[in-house]
Amino acid sequence: MSARTLKACRSCKALVDKEIQQCPICGNNSFSDEWEGMVILLNEKSELAEALGESKPWKYAINVK
Ligand SMILES: [Zn+2]
Repeated sequence: MSARTLKACRSCKALVDKEIQQCPICGNNSFSDEWEGMVILLNEKSELAEALGESKPWKYAINVK
């Protein structure tokens, strides 16, 4: 997995392949190529999930510009 092939959802910060047109997490279709950091959420009941405000296991950008 290369970060260069990923873009971040502007709404929920989910990282997806650049070919994808719609966010699989929140359904948004606005993405940014300018993002920093990555967290992989494995457990939807973890403290990390609460900190992110996300519920679905996925990979997320920490900072989306
Ligand atoms: Zn999203």
